[in-house]
Amino acid sequence: MKTNRREFLRTASAGAAALGLAGKIAAAETKAGAEKKAVKAAETFPVHLVGPGRRKMMWPIKSELKSVRIKHDAPIDPVSWAYMKELRENNKTRVIYPVNPYVEVYTLRKNLFGLFTHNLDGGGDVWMFLTVGPEKALLIDTAYGLGDLKGLCDKLTGGKPLYVANTHEHFDHAYGNARFDKIYCHEYLAPYLAQQNPHMFDYLFDDYGDNIWVEFDRNDLPKFKKYEIAGVPDGYKFDLGKGYEIELMYQGGHSAGHACFIDKQNRIVFTGDNIIVDTSGCGTVNAPGRGPHGEEQLLSAYRKNLKRLVDRGADFDWVYPSHFMIDVDKSALTNEMEAIDAILKDPNDYDFWDASWGKSATAPAGRYMKHINQFSVVYYGYNKG
Ligand SMILES: [Zn+2]
Repeated sequence: MKTNRREFLRTASAGAAALGLAGKIAAAETKAGAEKKAVKAAETFPVHLVGPGRRKMMWPIKSELKSVRIKHDAPIDPVSWAYMKELRENNKTRVIYPVNPYVEVYTLRKNLFGLFTHNLDGGGDVWMFLTVGPEKALLIDTAYGLGDLKGLCDKLTGGKPLYVANTHEHFDHAYGNARFDKIYCHEYLAPYLAQQNPHMFDYLFDDYGDNIWVEFDRNDLPKFKKYEIAGVPDGYKFDLGKGYEIELMYQGGHSAGHACFIDKQNRIVFTGDNIIVDTSGCGTVNAPGRGPHGEEQLLSAYRKNLKRLVDRGADFDWVYPSHFMIDVDKSALTNEMEAIDAILKDPNDYDFWDASWGKSATAPAGRYMKHINQFSVVYYGYNKG
């Protein structure tokens, strides 16, 4: 029987198997399985502190990207890191095009490119996804827009007209929007995108103007501009020509305006940040967001939307999160729903508490964690009041 952890062999080690690494990966997987049974945060995140507040990085990943990671703010789950190391060092489809030296391009399906780039702040690195239809293409998310993202898309699509859409508004998904003239999103997301401003990149630099988390040339950030924001309703279909459609489905949870995208042709759903193998943050028990439609960030609201997605399972087999492991079996969504049900039944019945999270912590600091069967963990806010 397939599991999601095993599924990573299929993507990550196209090529690694021939190098005799499959055994090593399988061993790592078994170890990871054992770790999942442990409920101590320390065992789930075996990361050591080096000096005050600084966390040691995991095994280095070789890459020719122009950007170089200085530090992470939060420890990364070892299985996620191992997956990325295998993928980035051994996947035979990886290309870095001169037009944009900040993006590793992976061919994931005949007409689907994964665009991997550094998260310029202390969070996990990011995927953008470019699907090329018969007449048009769709880019999902723009990360920080470091380097010529539009030029790269044109190169990959052969210059086809391009739709650009966001899963949600967070820095690492939408700050590259200014590279384009028009951005699509769920209508609840529009007011959040409208808040982007010329100073939004300032936090990436310290008082001396030096890069804090990732080394890159500041001139390669997009020049801020206002762009057209096209808020669309749940169920909106992007027509890529000759009947090739990709559907936007509203999700909420991680962000009030969060959407996922269903590509029936490739049998894939692009889920953004609502499910991630490292840690899935998809809402709080009782602390709604403070912006418009903030109540959609309650776990109870996300649970309804996740059920709608699970019920569409006839249209897809594979889940593509925006961080770390991709091409995940869709059973992860059902398993996430079960974890959420358990949380809602008794928020105090968490598996462990991760006190180490805190970069932008608002009350309560730290995070409650609940395991997702065969996948990873949900973290959730819960105000005991
Ligand atoms: Zn996010």
